[in-house]
Formats: sequence, structure tokens, C-alpha cells
Amino acid sequence: MSNLRFPALQELASEERKVNHYNGKRVTTMLNSHVFTGRTIREYLSDEAYKSLMASIKAGAKIDRKMADQIAAGMKAWAEEHGVTHFSHWFQPLTGGTAEKHDSFFTIKSDGTAIELFDGDALIQQEPDASSFPNGGIRATFEARGYTAWDPSSPAFIMESGYGKTLCIPTIFIAYNGESLDYKAPLIKSVAALDKAAVEVCRYFDKNVNKVTITLGWEQEYFVVDESLANARPDLLMCGRTLLGHSPAKGQQLEDHYFGSIPERVFAFMQDFEQEAYKLGIPLRTRHNEVAPGQFECAPIFEEVNIAVDHNSLLMDIMAKVAKRHKLKVLFHEKPFKGVNGSGKHNNWSLATDTGVNLLAPGKTPRTNLMFLTFFVNTIKAVHDYADLLRAAIASAGNDHRLGANEAPPAIISVFAGTYLSNVLDEIESRVKEKFSEQDEVILKLDIHKQIPELLMDNTDRNRTSPFAFTGNKFEFRAVGSAANCGSSMTILNTIVAQTLKEFTKEVDALIAKGEKKEIAIMHVLRSYIAQSKKIRFEGDNYSEEWAKEAEKRGLSNFKTTPEALNALITDSAKELFISNGIFSARELEARHEIMLEEYIKKVQIEARILGYICTNHILPAAINYQNVLIENVRGLKELSLGEDSFRAQLNLLKIVSNHIQEINDNVEAMIEARKVANNNSNTHERAEMYCHQVKAYFDKIRYHADKLELIIDDKLYPLPKYRELLFLR
Ligand code: ADP
Ligand code: MG
Repeated sequence: MSNLRFPALQELASEERKVNHYNGKRVTTMLNSHVFTGRTIREYLSDEAYKSLMASIKAGAKIDRKMADQIAAGMKAWAEEHGVTHFSHWFQPLTGGTAEKHDSFFTIKSDGTAIELFDGDALIQQEPDASSFPNGGIRATFEARGYTAWDPSSPAFIMESGYGKTLCIPTIFIAYNGESLDYKAPLIKSVAALDKAAVEVCRYFDKNVNKVTITLGWEQEYFVVDESLANARPDLLMCGRTLLGHSPAKGQQLEDHYFGSIPERVFAFMQDFEQEAYKLGIPLRTRHNEVAPGQFECAPIFEEVNIAVDHNSLLMDIMAKVAKRHKLKVLFHEKPFKGVNGSGKHNNWSLATDTGVNLLAPGKTPRTNLMFLTFFVNTIKAVHDYADLLRAAIASAGNDHRLGANEAPPAIISVFAGTYLSNVLDEIESRVKEKFSEQDEVILKLDIHKQIPELLMDNTDRNRTSPFAFTGNKFEFRAVGSAANCGSSMTILNTIVAQTLKEFTKEVDALIAKGEKKEIAIMHVLRSYIAQSKKIRFEGDNYSEEWAKEAEKRGLSNFKTTPEALNALITDSAKELFISNGIFSARELEARHEIMLEEYIKKVQIEARILGYICTNHILPAAINYQNVLIENVRGLKELSLGEDSFRAQLNLLKIVSNHIQEINDNVEAMIEARKVANNNSNTHERAEMYCHQVKAYFDKIRYHADKLELIIDDKLYPLPKYRELLFLR
């Protein structure tokens, strides 16, 4: 689609296409070149420091303070060889983005000598002036200190930005009393809880298991638009999504974009950010077009969950930066454009033992089959028992546009197991006898491991409408928003599975203590879990109207909006769960709830302001200009005395335009009033509800009239880039 209204852009774009291709470089030669890991650590650290670092990474323990100076010196030497001048503690505050505060190595000693220094203290802990990060009331202003503390399990890396290079130390961010203020601290705690609970369960099957690692492979969807066009739209610039815009005649209905050939300009961008990602050790593997025009996806090879979460946050940051080099803007918002699909971030999650077994991959022997079934059933039970918490984990103003809009999983949490495994579960459940006999062990001798891959291969057994689907050797949490920090959903998933496994162990041990054979005891508990969690399993079309009705009958929750969904975080059972697993204190939970509500309010508030502003400053003036053109025209035709019939169409148009102008004006005024009323309510939850139901209610009304005007007003007079100009990059 040519771009007559914004002609300069095409030239800029063609310049950028030529740069930043791989130029014959292999990925393996770039991988980890900017990460303090593997061989690099070995090279730059003494034997003693190396051993100490490795030991604390393995045990998840604190670094020996005596060793910290040595490790810091090694890191500094390595970084300086790469031209690094500054270091930064890198963290993920509850703003959803990443945060860095740079300090130079350079310092002046008390005797006046200027030197470059980076010691153990600087590595281990910093006190950024972080009083402006969201804290949900945890930090009173008189005690605004926040600390960042090194997380050795995620390696340090060198961040390049323009010509600047910074040594980044991944850290957790906590208040002076240890309360967490970020995504990473609770995630690490949840990893420890699940590791412990899962190892205990593994020991029923294999005494050699000492550690269970949680793995995450995310798939990141995003939109790409021309930067200059985006800059001409205050809504894209300030809210990351369009608040107005009529659907183009051609959207995604022909389904010609999905897996289609990647537009050259976007392809250059992809290659560029991939190379930046490889340097930082982010193992990107997949790239392709997504369903909507202008929409794409990338995915790495899965990694340990803490590292995978860091890598996702880091990549989003890199993509935004690299896009600028290509005069592009990348949109991570869940719903940047009305009428075409929104973006998600599928979180593929599994568990792996230190003996090399994927606990969610069907086993090859009856014994490993039972181990697989144990983790499979426990995960389903966890989702069943804590579905509302999973829903809360993915709640955000952006994701509300997606969940339940017939393009992404609904707001109803359910689990897809696949036909074959559903039958296996039903079969186990149907054994109603008091005791399992040897004969029942036949179930465990089923060739699950052979059946599953075959079913998956022909793709008939893949349900792409489910929010939480089993996909052969992992669960895929598909309802996570594209802009989200994966830490939030992973923390909650890990915690609920840890809790379920703990209860499972207790129940099995009780049966064994009564003299039951181990395998039979396990089967008994699994059977009861299958029965108890049955209502969360759904194999059909999650987008359908019938499912919403059926789910209601089953008593499943369907929280359509964020303020409502977030309530689950502060119930007594949530507090009990998070406190007993050592993830959050009650105060931390309440703070998080408050922060998420505040974030919701602010997002909707900003959108409301921008919408009012665009209407008043852009749309209405353009409409009035066009009105004047019509008035002039009618006046001229009248002068020619050609009769009423000669300007009937113009008069009619004038009436229509005037009506839309009036409607927009009135609704914008009413929206401003609604905002004032909401702002006067000091109860955060009530204020969020008011923004959700009273303020936001005007968005669609205003949009309806503005989008109609877009269709009527002279193309040259319309001030905003249109969907057809934004969505079809070449
Ligand atoms: P899709 O869902 O798009 O069809 P795949 O199912 O092939 O794609 O894989 C999607 C993602 O699943 C990949 O990013 C991959 O890293 C991740 N994945 C594969 N195995 C595991 C695992 N054991 N644990 C976590 N993630 C995994
Ligand atoms: Mg997927």
C-alpha cells in the first residue's frame, strides 16, 4: 500500500534495509560473547573464586564475602577488555520494565588518586535511590531505601547501547526489611519451593534425583510499525496501542500473513536483534509472521526459568532499541489494533531432574509412566485448585482486551490434556474399587510415550484455544499477555504446583504408613486428584459461546476484568498458600495487589486523557475543516442556482459530520466528568472498578463516531496515520 499521505518514510526505510545482516557469521561464534559465563568465568577467575562461585550458583546460596572481591575483579578485567566503563545493577521492578542505574568504575581515592575500581561490595549490593518505584505502601517515604542484591544464578552481561557499554549485574530488588519489590525475588523463592517439593516426589521413583529444574520456553508475539507513523499517533506513542482507527478493508481475513514471507524491512530488524540477543546468550531459535498483518513472533530454546525470565525482559528491551535503528517501532501491547488479533506470550513450562528426565514427558517404562502421570495429574490439580490465582497472574489492562475476545484464550482458566491422556485419566478414575490390583497396573504399561508424539505429529491433538494446554512434553500457558514480565505467572504456577506436590506427598506417605504398597498408594491419590480436578479439564473450543455457559454450570470462574481478577491475590487461602511456601508475606501480597490496581488505574487514566486529547486536538479540528469545505461547496452551488438537488448529498454529509462532532464532544466531556468522580474515590479497588466500568465505557462510544469520521473526511485532511498505513509494512 503506498503511503501518499506520509511520503518521506519509504525512502528512510529502504536505506535501513541494507545493514546488519549476518554476513556469514555463525550463531555459535556470537553466542554468549557478552556474558560472564562458561569458559569466560574459568579464564578470569582464580581456581578458588571459580569454585566458590560455582558452588553458590549450584546451591542457590549467598556468595562468600571473601570471594566477592576476587569475582568482582575478574568481572571488571573481562568487561574492561570489552571497553566497558560503567557497571549497573540490573533489575525488574514492578513497573513491568527493566531498571538500570549506571555507576562508573572510575572513582577518586581519599588521597586524591583517580582509579578504576569495582569491588565485592559494589558487586553484591547497591542502594539505588529507588523511592519512585511502585511499592504499594511497603516503603514509607521516611524509609525509602531499596536495595539491589546480586543474583549469581543469572550471569552478568555487557549491555551495548549506541557506543556505550555497561557491565550489568542481574539483581533482586528489595526494601530495607527484605520485602520484595520486584519480579525476580519471589520467582527465585518459588523455584526453591518447587524444586524441594518435586525432588521429594521424584524420590518415590528414583532415589538419585537431587534437584529439579524448572524450565521455561517463551514465545513472544509483537507488532512492528514504522516509527515515523507511530510518532504521528499520540495513542501509539503514549499508550502503546491505537485508541482510534477504522479497520482496513483488508485485515487478516485472507489469512495470508501467518507464516507468510517476512517483509524485508522487518527481516533486517529481526536479524539485527537476533545478533544482539546471541551476544547476550539469549538462544533465539524461531521467527515467523503471526496471524495479523504487521504481527510477528520469536521464540528461544527453553532455559532454566529464572534465566528465561531475565532473557525475555532483556530481549524486549533490546528489540525496542534495535527497532529504532531501523526506524521501526515494536509494539508489545496485547491489543494494539482493533479488529485484528492481539499478542500473547506463551509460557511453555516443564520440570527436569538432574538425572536428565523431563518430568512432563511420558515415560517409557511402567515406572517412569507413573512418574509422568504423577506430575501431570498434580499440575492439573494445582490449576484446578488455584485457577483464580493463575487468572490474577495474567491480569492487566492490556490483556483484558485479549482474554475472551475470541482470538485468545478466554478469561476462564481450564486445562487441555489431549484425547489420549484424557482417556487415560478417565480410565484411572473409573477404577472405583477400593484397591488397585496388579491388573490395574496394566494402565501404567500403556505405551503413553509412543502414543503422544504420534498424536502430536498429525497436529489433530493440539488445541490452540486452551489457556493451559499439555503439548506432549510440557504445559503451555497461553493466556499470558505479550507485554507481561513472565516472572509473575511463573511464580504463581511454581507455587501452586509446589503446594499440590507437598499435599500429594503427605497423602501418599499416610497410605504407605498404613501398609499400602508404594505404587498402589500413588495410584489411589492420583485417582482422587483426577476426580477432584475433573471440572477444570476441557478439550473443546475455548472461544465458543457454549464453553462460557458450560464453564458457568461447572462453577468455573470467569473474571473478565483486571480489578475483579486481582481480588484472588488477597484472599485468606492465597495468603496461606504464599506464606506457607515462603513466597510472599501478607503485606507483600497486599502491596502487590495495590500496585497492580494502581497500574491498571493509571493505564486507563492515561488512555482516557490521550483519547480526549486526540479527539479535541486532532479529530474534531479535521472534521470541522471538512465541514467548512462542505459549507463552502454548498454555498457555491446555491449561488449557481442549480436547485436543491445539486447539493443534497453534501447537505446530508454535513448533517452526518455535524452529528459525529457533537457526539464526540459530548462523550469526551462526559468521560472527563466520570474521571473526576473516580479520582475522588480514595479506595483503590473502587477507583479501579470505576475506571473499568464508568470511564472506560466511553472509549467505545467515542471511538465509534471518530472511526465513522475517518471514513468520511477527506483523506488529505485526516491527521492520523490510518490502519492501512500502519499495518502493512513492506
Ligand atoms: P509451538 O507451540 O509454536 O507449536 P513448540 O511446541 O514446538 O512450538 O515449542 C514452543 C516452545 O516450547 C519453544 O520455545 C521451546 O523452547 C519450548 N519448549 C520445548 N520443550 C520445553 C520444555 N521441556 N520446557 C519448557 N519449554 C519447552
Ligand atoms: Mg506455542
